[in-house]
Amino acid sequence: MIIHPKTRGFICTTAHPEGCAKQIENQIEYIQAQKKFTGPANVLVIGASTGYGLASRIAAAFGAGANTIGVFFDRAAEGSRTATAGWYNTAAFEAKAQEKGLKSFSIVGDAFSDSIKAKTIELIQSEFGQVDLVVYSLASPRRTHPVTGETFSSVIKPIGPTYTNKTLNFHTGEVSTTSIEPATEEEIRQTIAVMGGEDWKMWIEQLSEAGVLANGVTTVAYSYVGPEVTQPIYREGTIGKAKNDLENTATELNERLQAQGGRAFVSVNKALVTQSSSAIPVVPLYISALYKVMKEKELHENCIEQMYRLFSERLYGEGEVQVDEKGLIRIDDWEMREDVQAEVERRWQELDSDNVTLLADLSGYQKDFFQLFGFQTEGIDYEAEVDQNVDIPNLY
Ligand code: NAD
Repeated sequence: MIIHPKTRGFICTTAHPEGCAKQIENQIEYIQAQKKFTGPANVLVIGASTGYGLASRIAAAFGAGANTIGVFFDRAAEGSRTATAGWYNTAAFEAKAQEKGLKSFSIVGDAFSDSIKAKTIELIQSEFGQVDLVVYSLASPRRTHPVTGETFSSVIKPIGPTYTNKTLNFHTGEVSTTSIEPATEEEIRQTIAVMGGEDWKMWIEQLSEAGVLANGVTTVAYSYVGPEVTQPIYREGTIGKAKNDLENTATELNERLQAQGGRAFVSVNKALVTQSSSAIPVVPLYISALYKVMKEKELHENCIEQMYRLFSERLYGEGEVQVDEKGLIRIDDWEMREDVQAEVERRWQELDSDNVTLLADLSGYQKDFFQLFGFQTEGIDYEAEVDQNVDIPNLY
């Protein structure tokens, strides 16, 4: 069939298999053009099909020659409905990894469930014996608790007063004012249950009890801090509470893993266009302004550049891993540079629908958004027939 993007707000309901494959190829080429690093040998990535988790998997496999297992939640094509982007991304990753002689396996299903954890443990036991890196990169709107059966929903809301600021409709370029009502206590609790550290801890405990964590294992999860303007909706809001919980979990896991020479980290990453970040009010306008400033200063990075730097210079770099006063790895260091933030802040005051293409990188945002689904990718003929049915090799 001929596949074009079909968008509904910040969601695109179609994905292009060849465009996604090309995006994977580009990320692999980027890693292969960098200096190799001595990194992990056997890696588990939870949330491996898009965004930061996918880039982590590519950086470990093609930068350090690691074998990988990826766990994710995506669906195959059905009739005239295309598969999700993460499905096509993983199919392309698996094919490239095998071409390179790397072992790689994919597990599709709900990472919050006990059954997927058990399946992953079995696969590690039969194929790798143990893993020496566990990347936790889930971003989800919902979680069903494996013990109580309660289903939680996460919300992105401020805590305390109503939050009012500028926001962007990135399809039309319209900049408007939005007001978001504060979360209730119940919404805060549920957001922490979805995006906090409980599930990461459950994974590490179950992997540890099954004896599949190698001595000296590293585990890392991802967080975000960001600028003043998004504080009420992000870091001081419901999602920020969940990130505090995730960061506290790292301290707890670090203590636990130290007994076997292991370590747990949270890495604070840069704001980037992903399926998750597009859904947050205000953030797309900030990201557009940030992109423009960082591109002008030649500091711009995408997920793959961020993950290469995280792995090669921090987690597997020389000497002690550099962390801030809270023990966090700051790979958002270039985003948070004083000159970058001052310039974004200056532009923020002026931004409106008339000057958004001048002061912010609206076209860069839009392109990145469509590329998440395999569209607007160089070298792809979008008028050509393409088979939407793609198999993932080594799928469990
Ligand atoms: P993403 O939406 O691109 O990726 C999420 C991944 O989680 C996908 O592979 C998806 O399949 C998987 N997933 C979701 N629910 C699942 C489930 N129930 N079972 C199995 N897999 C499931 O998101 P992202 O932006 O890469 O976010 C990953 C992490 O990075 C999050 O913790 C996020 O807060 C953090 N982060 C993101 C940004 C950003 O700007 N995008 C910045 C800093 C930190």
